[in-house]
Amino acid sequence: MRSRSTSLGRGLVWFRNDLRIQDNSALYHAGKRCEQLAAVFIACPDSWQSHNEGDALVAFRMACLHELQTQLQTRNIPLYFLQLSTFSQVPQALEQITRRLKIETVFANAEYPLNEQRRDHAVRDRLRENGVAAEYHSDRTLLPPGAVRTGAGEPYKVFTPFKRALIQLCAESEIKPLPVPRKKPLPKEGAHWPKWLALELEENKKLTQKIPEHLPHFAIDTAKSGIVKGWKSGEKAAQKRLKLFSERISGYQAERDFPALDSTSHLSPYLNCGAISIRQCMQMALNLNQGHWQSGNAGISCWISELIWRDFYTHLLVDFPHLSKGQPFKAETDQIPWRYDKDLFCRWSRGETGVPIVDAAMRQLNEIAWMHNRLRMVVASFLSKNLLIDWRWGERYFMQHLIDGDFASNNGGWQWTASTGTDAAPYFRVFNPYSQSQRFDPNGDFIRRYVPELDSLNNKEIHDPPSMANYPSVICDVGAGRKRAIEVFSNLK
Ligand SMILES: Cc1cc2nc3c(=O)[nH]c(=O)nc-3n(C[C@H](O)[C@H](O)[C@H](O)COP(=O)(O)OP(=O)(O)OC[C@H]3O[C@@H](n4cnc5c(N)ncnc54)[C@H](O)[C@@H]3O)c2cc1C
Repeated sequence: MRSRSTSLGRGLVWFRNDLRIQDNSALYHAGKRCEQLAAVFIACPDSWQSHNEGDALVAFRMACLHELQTQLQTRNIPLYFLQLSTFSQVPQALEQITRRLKIETVFANAEYPLNEQRRDHAVRDRLRENGVAAEYHSDRTLLPPGAVRTGAGEPYKVFTPFKRALIQLCAESEIKPLPVPRKKPLPKEGAHWPKWLALELEENKKLTQKIPEHLPHFAIDTAKSGIVKGWKSGEKAAQKRLKLFSERISGYQAERDFPALDSTSHLSPYLNCGAISIRQCMQMALNLNQGHWQSGNAGISCWISELIWRDFYTHLLVDFPHLSKGQPFKAETDQIPWRYDKDLFCRWSRGETGVPIVDAAMRQLNEIAWMHNRLRMVVASFLSKNLLIDWRWGERYFMQHLIDGDFASNNGGWQWTASTGTDAAPYFRVFNPYSQSQRFDPNGDFIRRYVPELDSLNNKEIHDPPSMANYPSVICDVGAGRKRAIEVFSNLK
């Protein structure tokens, strides 16, 4: 007998980049409608690798998955793990799982890069053939992609009017995170619910409750080796970070561009793997700002704006699928004679360009798998404008090394800086790494932290050092590179 409040018997929550139990749309709806719930996470290391996901990102995701499993246990929801190779194997695997566990509906939160969308359509079709429903919920963004439209019903291509329209829509209803589902009755062991340990699927695939220590292609124990040191995993750690940040959010606007200061939230890895939701972040900001989105405290409204950039880039991905295919937003920028100089690229990626702020930033990325936002713009501009190296090389390197690598924001950030994107920096805007360094790291504190060989220099020299035995000389003529970039862009038809 089903209880009055539930309409379905067994549901399966398919977790992806939404690794939390609070304010999780798919989990909430599954909990409300199903009498019994199980959860599954499917690792596809070959697909992840082909999407350039890196060790730090995957290690962090797996660590958050462990935490999620523990949290779900408190609700009597077993989390199973399945390892496949590619997304293409997922539909068949889910078909087997739903058949064996007698699942009626699979609940998941929508993902927006093209291959993820294709995978999810294929799953829906496959399950439907077997009478099982797949429900995808909008969860990753404040509003679902497609919901923010111009008066003519078109997608916005410029951030500011997009932001204005989004705020207007959001302000119509309260941002209210969803509660955690109530504890479920423990399913009785029996024919269709396995003994909570393991379930053999066809083709030697095993559904298990043991989350593995190793995955092909990825050093998922990087957490132990120190790369992701400092990034405590899981939902509780994310909430703690949000709380700590809320105590200093007022200073955000004034301090956020100074990489030596700890003035931004560092929530990006958590938002990316879903250990915290965008609504939880926005609710914190709005509560502190008496409900104001654009006025009130300058630090808070500035942070709100940054959160909306994340929505903007995700919405663009859905409206313009060519962004998922390695193409620039502005097609004409593909005529640019990008350079493919492996040696220069290698020097950039190792932080050996001879430009201290660029080197410090790249070493920060290589050491802690994260980079300050201002520096992301500075190094992206240096690579794509001063060196005229194809921005896609930089985009890929970032994805492979960032703990917060998010396809939409990374692609958006690179295309913005390289002036190939929508609402991008005008092509004649080339960040001058020396003046950026003087302005945002005036005493060279950040440079000294990551390029210790320059520590003995004074506050002036540190931005543009004299010739030194233990530090490389500059790999390009920064001024000439700027001039060349402006010329090639201005020649575009
Ligand atoms: C070239 C380039 C590549 C980038 N790649 C990524 C990426 O792979 N993943 C990623 O999450 N962000 C990316 N960003 C955006 C931004 O740099 C990071 O989100 C930010 O530095 C994360 O630090 P934080 O959490 O302390 O941010 P905060 O300043 O505290 O901002 C809060 C949150 O707002 C969002 N946000 C802030 N700025 C931006 C922005 N410009 N675009 C989109 N979302 C934003 C993030 O989710 C961030 O966590 C990139 C920016 C550039 C210029």
